[in-house]
Parts: sequence; C-alpha cells; structure tokens
Amino acid sequence: MTQQIEIDGASPWDGVATERDERPSRIRISGGRIESLLPSGSSSSDGEGVRVFRYSPTATVLPGLIDCHVHMSLDPLVFSADEQMRIPSEKVWAGMQQRALAMVQAGITTARDLGAGKWMEIALRDRIGRGELPGPRLLCVGQPLTSPGGHCHFWGGEARGDEAVRRVIARQVEHRVDWIKVMATGGVFTKGTDVSKPQYDEAELRGIVAAAGEHGRHVAAHCHGTAGIRNAFASGVRTVEHCSFAGSDGFGSDFDPSFVPQMVRDDVWVSSTVNATWGRRREKDGKPTPFWERMSTCLGALRREGVGLVASTDAGIPGVQHHQLPEALAVFARYAGLSPVEALRSATSEAARALGLEGETGRLQPGLAADLIVVEGDPTLDLSALLRPRLVVAAGRVVFEANWDLARERAD
Ligand SMILES: [Zn+2]
Repeated sequence: MTQQIEIDGASPWDGVATERDERPSRIRISGGRIESLLPSGSSSSDGEGVRVFRYSPTATVLPGLIDCHVHMSLDPLVFSADEQMRIPSEKVWAGMQQRALAMVQAGITTARDLGAGKWMEIALRDRIGRGELPGPRLLCVGQPLTSPGGHCHFWGGEARGDEAVRRVIARQVEHRVDWIKVMATGGVFTKGTDVSKPQYDEAELRGIVAAAGEHGRHVAAHCHGTAGIRNAFASGVRTVEHCSFAGSDGFGSDFDPSFVPQMVRDDVWVSSTVNATWGRRREKDGKPTPFWERMSTCLGALRREGVGLVASTDAGIPGVQHHQLPEALAVFARYAGLSPVEALRSATSEAARALGLEGETGRLQPGLAADLIVVEGDPTLDLSALLRPRLVVAAGRVVFEANWDLARERAD
C-alpha cells in the first residue's frame, strides 16, 4: 500500500526552471503519484491517514535523481572482472538489494542498469516495481551485444553478423529487457580489448538499432574511441555512453572538436559517466592533471555547443559506489562547466527525456510518479545541498527520513 503524504513548507524546484521557486509549497501525494502542488498555507487537506512532513522554506523539494548508467550486479570493491564472475549468485543478489536500498535512500529514485550476464537485475527491477523491495525504478538491458572476445564478452552477448545479433537481441527481449546495449568499442576492464578501436562498424550498428527497434527497444552504445563515437552517432542509437574520445594517450587524447556540432541532436544524449572519483583526478601536486585538462576540454566543448548531456556514474566499476550520484553531480558540473541547475536537469528532467520516462518521472508535476527528495539548502545554488537529504519518497513511498532535530536533542 502506498501512503497518502503531504510535504509542506519546502521551496520547490520543478526539475526544469532556471531557479528555485521561493514560495513554499504544499505537495500532496496519493496512490504513488503527485496529486497536487499548491502554495503552502492553501486550505489544508490534513485528514485521517495522511502523513504530513513539515519543513522550513530553507529546505528544497525537488524531483528524485536519475543515474543513467549503473551495474547493479557489480561489487565496486571487487577490482577484476574474473573475480566478479566468481561471486556466488546468492551473494550477488544480497549485494544488489543492499545497493538498491543505499541508492534510493541517497535520493536516486531511477537508474538504468547497463549490463550484466544473468538477468538478476531484471528480477530486482520487478520486485522493486511491485513494492516488495526498496530501491530505484530500474530500466535494464540484460546482456550487452559485443563482438566475439570483445568488451564484457563474459556476460554472454557475443555476436557477429545479422543472424547472431538478432538471436542475442531476441534472447534479451525474452528476458523482458527495457533497452538494448551494444559495446561499440573496446573497454577498460576487459583484457585484450582496445578502448580506441570500434568493435562494430557503422553498418553493423545500424543493423543492431533496426533489430532493437523491431522489438520497440532503444539502443545505448558504449563508446570510448572517436571512430566508435562517430559510428554510434551515425547509426541511430539513443544514448552514447562514456564518449571519452580515448586515444593512445588515454581518455580525451583523441578529441575531435570538428565533430561536436554533429553531436547536437534532439534524440541523442551523451551519458558521460563522470563519477565521484574523477574529483580526485583533477590535481596532482597542486597542478591540474592532463586527465582534467583533456576531459574538461571535451565535456566543456560539448556543453557549450549544446549537446544533450545526462548524468551517469557507471556505478559498480572498481571504486565507484552505487549511491554516489549526489557527489558525482558536483564533479560532473566541474568537468563540463555546468551551472548547478544544468547539472540538476541532467539528473532529473533531461535524464527522464533521454530514457523515454518524461511522462513518468523527472519533474515535480501533478500526475507524474511521486519520486521526490527534500534537502536542506538550495541545490540550484550549491549542489552540496544534495548531500543533506531530509526526506526521500520513491514511487509514493517514504524510503528515507532524517530527523535532525531528534539527532540534535540526543547529542545535547
Ligand atoms: Zn558500464
């Protein structure tokens, strides 16, 4: 049973506006949906069975956050793919439940899982969707398509040639995936693959997009190298993951500014997987690192040209925890030169558009799912407010409530 909830007194940011609305609001939630959004002080509907949460106008209520790229099944403390694959399924499942809880309690109310081998994340998606487990709404891809021996081949999605590609896609659809993922270049964590080299050419990617489209699925393409990025943009995929312009000197070393104007599309988004650990890679011995200089140049150019950018972390890869999108957003803003509001949109309304969920979540609007967070402070001015959550409601359920007054009393 979802509850009837009222959130009263916080100042709203709707997921789109250029600033927070300074008029305190009263938000009514019923049946898992936002029922109304009115000025605070308008006739109270306090009734029996309504849980009321009151805040001061210094607090902000905003849409729950969306991470466009995670791996629920991967343990970020396990550093090799071989070791990940040896973890027994029961242990993987227990870890997935813990990660889902940590994510939603940190304010991440939607996430897209971009690959695993055994479709366990689909079972997790369904159990969260039925209200049996706390966690973010999940979209899942199952086994990513990859070339024989290619990036993450151990997940089982190897395919070369139209027939094999169609077979792998049909298998994912049978397991009820939401999206199709393709590894368009090599990847960092698979030995023997080359991040700078394409795994499929443009014609092959077009074939994959067409086959996925026949099943009504969009395609997410993992791309590091520039040739792979070009192929992906030419082929009709909907999100380009990483987009790191990786060359022989690492990420950003093969950046091609002349290609950036072609990346501005209404229906293609770059999901750049800037995670919280990138914050520590900005400086060394008090000097900016080549990594920072290259990646801030790439991402800054995309942002200035108006390329659609959505927030994502690749949580699950070594050292990248699942609940850290709030920290990662500030780092992403730094690298891409985003204002706090632009960074927030990339993790709310824009992310929802990229994922095809704009009719479901990503904004504070009556009729949409009640996915929202209350934080202390104004994140449209300072993203660190996201690290001070007071309340998280996911699909109409209260999944986190911080009672700071009580904590303070106890400390006295
Ligand atoms: Zn990934």
